[in-house]
Amino acid sequence: MRVLLIGAPGAGKGTQAARIARHFGLTHISSGDLLRRHVKEETAIGRQVAEYIDRGDLVPDAIIMDMLYKPVMAASASGGYILDGFPRTVEQAEAAYAVAGELGVQVQLTVHIEVSPEELLRRLKARGRGEDDSDSVIRHRLKVYEEKTMPLIAYYAEREKLVTVNGGRPVDEVTWSIVVQLQRARRKHLVD
Ligand code: AMP
Repeated sequence: MRVLLIGAPGAGKGTQAARIARHFGLTHISSGDLLRRHVKEETAIGRQVAEYIDRGDLVPDAIIMDMLYKPVMAASASGGYILDGFPRTVEQAEAAYAVAGELGVQVQLTVHIEVSPEELLRRLKARGRGEDDSDSVIRHRLKVYEEKTMPLIAYYAEREKLVTVNGGRPVDEVTWSIVVQLQRARRKHLVD
């Protein structure tokens, strides 16, 4: 099974991806976690991306594609993946499709975790306290999501690869909805 999770900052992507990975025996690949590890370990990639992350801007596509290639290939060869945080733009989706299509490891289904803007802001402010995300960075990340990432929802819907779950509910209920959607998709042979 090869699936993507799309959701705004604060939608619970990371938490849900980890749970879904465990449930179906998939590899959880989080572009944000990988980038943060590079920053922490002060690698060459880490030095290039730190500023973008601090500002809440997207990291350039070439760096992301390069960083994800190996983990995605490895995961595809061993049970599949759940990608969280990638793609973030239609350009990234198209680039990924071009690379993965040739290798037969393209995405089978995208799960959109939908949460209202008011709820997102409430969660992000609660989470940000004491950490380094200021209000303006939070707002900027939400704006980047709306402008750059939301068009992906129509992109995958047009390709009949989208399911949406209501992410405004308690964590367990959201996980369960995703599991049900993926099981349904499996019965329809949309995912393996
Ligand atoms: P996340 O943990 O997914 O919210 O990602 C944290 C930050 O990492 C984002 O705000 C971006 O700066 C960067 N990032 C993560 N994934 C991507 C991606 N696919 N493309 C560009 N930047 C990304």
